[in-house]
Amino acid sequence: MSNAGDEKIIKEEIADLLRTLVSVPGVTGFEDSIRQKIISLLPPTGARISTDNPGNLYATVPGADTGRDGHLRVMVCAHMDEVGFVVNNIDDRGFIFLYPLGGIPEYLGPGEWVTLHTDKGDIQGCVGIHPPHLAVPARREIFADVGARNREQVQQMGVITGTPVTFTRHFQQLGNDRVMGRCLDNRMGCAVLVALLRRLAANNIEATVTGVFSTTEEHGMLPVSGPARVYGARGAGVAAMNLRPDFAVVLDSIVCSDIPGIPPHLRQVRLGAGVALRLVDDLAIMRPKMRAFLKEVASAAGIVLQEGISRSYTDASVIQLADVPVATLGIPLRYAHSPGQIADLNDIVQTLHFTTAIVQKVNLYK
Ligand SMILES: [Zn+2]
Repeated sequence: MSNAGDEKIIKEEIADLLRTLVSVPGVTGFEDSIRQKIISLLPPTGARISTDNPGNLYATVPGADTGRDGHLRVMVCAHMDEVGFVVNNIDDRGFIFLYPLGGIPEYLGPGEWVTLHTDKGDIQGCVGIHPPHLAVPARREIFADVGARNREQVQQMGVITGTPVTFTRHFQQLGNDRVMGRCLDNRMGCAVLVALLRRLAANNIEATVTGVFSTTEEHGMLPVSGPARVYGARGAGVAAMNLRPDFAVVLDSIVCSDIPGIPPHLRQVRLGAGVALRLVDDLAIMRPKMRAFLKEVASAAGIVLQEGISRSYTDASVIQLADVPVATLGIPLRYAHSPGQIADLNDIVQTLHFTTAIVQKVNLYK
């Protein structure tokens, strides 16, 4: 384990990466800008970079020569897309109706500032709200207002059907090692993956590691309560079929239940209490032998784990379909899929240490 001074430096590196990664949009299915930004962060890693049709980004660092025959191939996957909206319709008065992509909480939107990412540049606006002074019907539309007087003015700004839209919120460092921002789900995973790739060569790791920054993970989760009906994570599925790795690690967030409104007996994952094994979700169950392997690796590395069960899904669900053993790690996160998500830098740094330990020991997984 590294000492306190090293930990502080790593925490600062992670905070810098998050500040950079959260400021770039990547609405699910529209990941070009965030992919370019991640590529710009990778040169110090010496990784071989490539992409594919769904837009996944691959960064491969060959294993160190340790004299043994053959290199295990490990895929470490973090989705780079985020929940958001696309423009659906523009009416003749210039109101822009938004279609949600990913599981945005139903009651979220009205009153939020939004950015519309057009080919001509970013346009600012807000999601219209019905103030308490107006009597309104029960069903509320999600519509943006960019200050235009009519449809033509909206179109002149470059806004068209399909323009991706994000909440106008970036990154904020809070006190006590906590951070807040839009799309910490899953730029936290991306930050860990960039930091891991930067360290692989120096750590003399025998396995050949391909970092996959996957696309379209969020697409398909419907904003409903109840068990999630989900169809997402297609990007990682293609990546797993392309790579056919011997082992995979998925880095994603896991929701914290340590907040008001959750009865104490249902509280499970806590913010700041360490990286979590995601044991069960709607589409994937961790095999008991994987859980045992991960607990062994963690205890040897002095890493404290949490364990959790969650609704929804991650990229692990589709990587399993390619007949690959998958370790699904959850980085604790409060208020997932909202503009104000909160995470703890210590959890993120622990996730980096744990992922490093896993790729170092992967030859012990039987
Ligand atoms: Zn996620």
